[in-house]
Amino acid sequence: MKIKKHIRNTILILLILLLPTISMLPMHASSRRVIKVGYPIQSGLTMKDENGNRYGYTYDYLMQIAQYNDWEYEFVEAKGDLNEQLTTLTKQLEDGEIDLLGCMRYNDALAKMYDYPSEPYGYAYNIIAVKDDSDLVNLESLATKKDLKIAVNKNAKTRIEKLDQFAAMNGFTYTKIEALDTEDLIKKIENEEADAYLLTDLENTEDYRSISRFSPDAFYFATTKGNTEIVTELNQAILDLSKMNPLLTTTLYNRYFENMCGEIHLNSKEKEFIKENGTIKVLVLENNAPIEDSKNGEAVGIGKDILDFISENTEMKFEYEMVKTYEEYKNKIKNREASVLMGLPFDASQAETLDVTFTSPWLVSDIMLVMNKNLDPNELKDKIKGTTYLNTPAIAEANEDKRYNNIEDLLEALNDREVDYAYINPYQLTYYTNKLHLDNLSTFSVPEYLLNQYAFGVSKNTDSRLISILNKGIRTIDSEKLNRYIYKNAYVEESFHLKDFLNEHIAGVSFVALLLIAGIVGAIFMYYRHRFEVQRAIELEYQRYQMLSIITGEMTFEYDFEKDTMKISKEGIGKIANEEMIEHFKDESAKQETNEHMVLTVLEEYLENALDRHEEVLIRMLDGSERWYQLVIKIIYDIGNYGHRPVYAIGKILDIQQQINEKEQLYKESTTDSLTGIYNRAGGFKEINHALSKQGGAIIMADLDKFKQVNDEFGHFAGDHVLIETASILKHVFHEGIVARLGGDEFLLFIQNTNKEEIALLCEQALKEMHEKKYEDAKNVDVTMSMGVVFVKENASLENAMRKADELLYEAKRSGRSTYHICEETV
Ligand code: GH3
Ligand code: MG
Repeated sequence: MKIKKHIRNTILILLILLLPTISMLPMHASSRRVIKVGYPIQSGLTMKDENGNRYGYTYDYLMQIAQYNDWEYEFVEAKGDLNEQLTTLTKQLEDGEIDLLGCMRYNDALAKMYDYPSEPYGYAYNIIAVKDDSDLVNLESLATKKDLKIAVNKNAKTRIEKLDQFAAMNGFTYTKIEALDTEDLIKKIENEEADAYLLTDLENTEDYRSISRFSPDAFYFATTKGNTEIVTELNQAILDLSKMNPLLTTTLYNRYFENMCGEIHLNSKEKEFIKENGTIKVLVLENNAPIEDSKNGEAVGIGKDILDFISENTEMKFEYEMVKTYEEYKNKIKNREASVLMGLPFDASQAETLDVTFTSPWLVSDIMLVMNKNLDPNELKDKIKGTTYLNTPAIAEANEDKRYNNIEDLLEALNDREVDYAYINPYQLTYYTNKLHLDNLSTFSVPEYLLNQYAFGVSKNTDSRLISILNKGIRTIDSEKLNRYIYKNAYVEESFHLKDFLNEHIAGVSFVALLLIAGIVGAIFMYYRHRFEVQRAIELEYQRYQMLSIITGEMTFEYDFEKDTMKISKEGIGKIANEEMIEHFKDESAKQETNEHMVLTVLEEYLENALDRHEEVLIRMLDGSERWYQLVIKIIYDIGNYGHRPVYAIGKILDIQQQINEKEQLYKESTTDSLTGIYNRAGGFKEINHALSKQGGAIIMADLDKFKQVNDEFGHFAGDHVLIETASILKHVFHEGIVARLGGDEFLLFIQNTNKEEIALLCEQALKEMHEKKYEDAKNVDVTMSMGVVFVKENASLENAMRKADELLYEAKRSGRSTYHICEETV
């Protein structure tokens, strides 16, 4: 960006210097489009610093879009508090005074007012947040809190439903405290009527920290209704962006919402705690690198780096004590010889055994299945599982005598086939396989055991302020910093050998060669670092997706481009395929090809270009049901040295048949006249305009004669009856045309591809049938009709034609009614 700015400035100066010359030339300057963007001052999204520089999630995203669309922005601000600003700007958007507004929700009602691109540009999470100094620290503490009260905005019905669902899934119950708006939510907490509030992370206020996030909602740019040009360009730009920079939204989210300040803000009570307590003692279980370990008698590991960060940013001091066995770990914390355990897997039963409370987790990873090479993976059952004392829940039931104090011992036991298999997180696995050079191991990824989280364990006797300080520290560490810690602790081992090598041969190595090697090492370092970061981000995205599908219980799938395998979530079994895994997806989909809309064929077609999709498709499922589904596919790319390569496609299939039915029904209702069942004004205009765009024909305006008298003499119901019958006669006589009731006793017709003779005959016929029709409820009075007819060419203006036909209709009325007049010339 900086370079760009620099170049732009240089060009500007040149332009000014050359202006006299340039202005003589004809101007064909590239036209950057000026887009007017609503700019409410909204935390995290659209902000402005004291020098007037803009920044924020939406702003940064718009700047990215500008690179694709050649857009230039004019930011339009509004007065008042955020609510007033948003009211003004949405109104301006509706009226077309501005072109674009970000952070808009999508629903049917809003879609009627604004136009949206098909893709969102971000997601906002629902959060449960508490006051900074609250004792509630995480999901677990919600479950154990008695009489938990959560303040909710009573108008946010869907959000409350989602919370109910989330609470049920995570095993906590709560009482709803209803509030009117965000201000009221805060008041409820200040008055201690509630323990936490429910909001989205976009709206969260300072001094409140979120302890749980769930069910993200998409947010979009919206534009003025009918502004198709901008919507098309936006769609294309969002698509291009997601292809070229798939991690943009994650990066922006982390930048603006994960951690807004990068500093740890402590409240007075927490500062007091630090003053009172001096140094906090932390226990480190050795040989659990890169989580925790010791080197030359000093504590090292990712956990240690996090505590260092906290020390640097607060007055807090830590003192470390290394232990070698789990027994020591347990006894020392029980005897209150230490307050913090360094790297505890996030597992409730573990916390109970050790009598500690967890902080928020600071590391999340998946788990690998590690086994002795000589074992067939299909024979795992009844084999001996090994584990460390501090392993995760899935493993806790391993044989008592096959427990090891640390990963190093466990891996060696695996290598010697003292045990057959174990589950180990990839960070530790990579570290020790590099270090120990074990040859007898094979590893497999096991996505089912997705989450392995590490947190600090804090002794239950310790003041809860310690947990809140640690949590603030953990929250402040962004993913970039964390990646650095992981890298530093897990991946530096190898460079050590290189240094030794250089030391030994230093005499023979010239200065130039040294420089060369340093260059290569630097390049390799940068390359792996980059690979690692990309890989990590992909992993995070993948895990996030996995969790989402578990929480939402939707039909989801993941396709592996390399292996050609398709994995289906539980909800899709029996519908997409009969088993969870399709090994040869392309072959299977080819088998379904003869049958139209078959699910696998449709999926293959959509996966072919490896592009993100968000579409409504008719799909026939395995059980034979054929319905409309929303198909969302997201492609995960690996940006490596082979270029931009699709790795996974993840997607969901959502049944929207009911929505489609409702939409069709709504459309039908909105275009049909409820009394006569023919088109109403809007429906008629739409149909006729459509037909006119293809072919010319005759436009007829018809109006009942003296209809007011029928109403006056025989009542409104009799009048209605006449209107129904008239519509029926018109439909019957002009059965090849479009017949609409404009309102009252006025009708509009269009007959394609006709001529004067034919129309005259049809009009005669209509007048005749009107005359012959008898109405018992109107004393058989003769109800007649007058008509005006014009002939129009293809693409003629309907409005002009109607005006002309109306004139002729009134000529017909003036000349004595019950007749029709036809215009001689074609309009
Ligand atoms: P003219 O020959 O000049 O057209 O005389 P008219 O009495 O038919 O006059 P006009 O077309 O202006 O009157 C339309 C009347 O249609 C007025 C109103 O009482 C009646 N009307 C409008 N909508 C409805 C309706 O839905 N049902 C019934 N029964 N009458 C309607
Ligand atoms: Mg009339």
